[in-house]
Amino acid sequence: MWFNPNIHPFKEYESRFSALKRYEEKTGHDVIYIDIYDLEGFLEGISEMESRCNFCIEWRFRKTAVECVKRGFDSFSSTLILSPYQDHDRLKRLGKKVAKEEGIEFIYEDMRDGFEEHHQLADEMNLYKQGYCGCIFSEKERYQKDLK
Ligand code: SF4
Repeated sequence: MWFNPNIHPFKEYESRFSALKRYEEKTGHDVIYIDIYDLEGFLEGISEMESRCNFCIEWRFRKTAVECVKRGFDSFSSTLILSPYQDHDRLKRLGKKVAKEEGIEFIYEDMRDGFEEHHQLADEMNLYKQGYCGCIFSEKERYQKDLK
């Protein structure tokens, strides 16, 4: 499922969205798109939170869980479980919390070992690969790191 309301800048949102569309066309997998761009909602949400990532991840998980329940699925997961850059304890904790509250199961498996292979596959399929997590803050950190 696509729900990435806080990708910055909007051109990056479009690049990632198009990459998933191309992936869907190439593989024949069905993808659900929630095509909402809500930078304002993200900024408002994190203003009340200690951790922007807690807000961001719970927001994404909640939307996914609600959509899955609506469609009669009994579980959900996230591509984030593949990322070595994510805090996996947080993913597990928030996934289980949201799942309990929404009446669905969260599937977690540590898939970080497959990260490199995932990149190779994207290259072979000629798909766009993101260079940072996604929000405006992670974009800034990426370029600051490049400058150092
Ligand atoms: S760094 Fe990634 S997980 Fe954290 S708020 Fe930004 S987009 Fe979300």
